[in-house]
Amino acid sequence: MAWKAQNEISSSDAKRIDNAITQVDGQRKNLIYQLGEAFYKANKKNEDVDATYKVMVDNINKLEDNRKVWINRKMKLQGMRFCDGCGNVLPYESCFCNRCGVKLEPVAEELQELEGVPNPVETI
Ligand SMILES: [Zn+2]
Repeated sequence: MAWKAQNEISSSDAKRIDNAITQVDGQRKNLIYQLGEAFYKANKKNEDVDATYKVMVDNINKLEDNRKVWINRKMKLQGMRFCDGCGNVLPYESCFCNRCGVKLEPVAEELQELEGVPNPVETI
């Protein structure tokens, strides 16, 4: 037996309530995002983080590394790289930084596979 509304409500009441629900949903989503961001910041270097969250924290760490790889690839195409020590922009082939003097390591170019998540980045 189908449920049937007992009263008609005006379209303006329905619209007002739907807008309130949309607002609550948005606030809820925003707070969950903030909760995740705070949890991640507190646990991104925590090897003992609960297994439930470990894969997610590891994947976010990998995404941050992959972001750097993409930036490095773009810099390389422009014939440049960043200094590992001070962030100075240098010619790609540089062995030392001309600002801080640090010996430069090879630029990270390998993307990391995420666990349990399809990795579309290499198809770009
Ligand atoms: Zn430097």
